[in-house]
Amino acid sequence: PRRGTEPEQSGSRLVVLAGPTAVGKGTVAGYIREHYPDVQLSVSATTRAPRPGEIDGVTYFFLTDDQFDRMVEAGQFLEWATVHNAYRYGTPRAPIEDALASGRNVLLEIDIQGARQVRQAFPEARLVFLLPPTWDELVRRLTGRGTEGAEEQARRLETAKVELAAQEEFDATVVNTEVPEAAREVVDLMTA
Ligand code: 5GP
Repeated sequence: PRRGTEPEQSGSRLVVLAGPTAVGKGTVAGYIREHYPDVQLSVSATTRAPRPGEIDGVTYFFLTDDQFDRMVEAGQFLEWATVHNAYRYGTPRAPIEDALASGRNVLLEIDIQGARQVRQAFPEARLVFLLPPTWDELVRRLTGRGTEGAEEQARRLETAKVELAAQEEFDATVVNTEVPEAAREVVDLMTA
């Protein structure tokens, strides 16, 4: 493959999957990881604590605030953001640039602020917005997950309302009714 960090140069594509909280971005991304091995999923760094079952270096790189600060200062993030006014999340730059340079398609599952930053850094990136079938379904998914307390759930719902309005800035929308179908639509958008 030809060298180069621009998706156009290598013929590979950077796709950002974003959408409101609890829409199922993580589930769709996980399905793609399992069923579409040609797609490289970015592993983000975060300052939040691991949830049960999450593995350092696989789900996220779990960092201290100091470690995260050092990566920010060293310019090692393609984008980073404070999400839900709580923890910081960022996309390590080097693995993305290496993957694109070697002609692989790369998928980022990040929040909307991050998607906007990626658009600045990589104008060729394709931004995909994942939608819930309905607002009620989004509320059901958020409260049903059971990983956050009531206060955190309320905060995330407020965020979700604002986030839904951002879909107009995106290149494409995919409705997450059934995960396998949504995943296939996202992959089709990478290769089309
Ligand atoms: P969670 O804590 O539930 O795993 O993720 C919370 C939010 O952080 C989700 O909306 C997820 O998309 C977002 N997120 C995960 N990784 C990144 C990242 O690298 N950058 C940005 N900007 N957001 C991220």
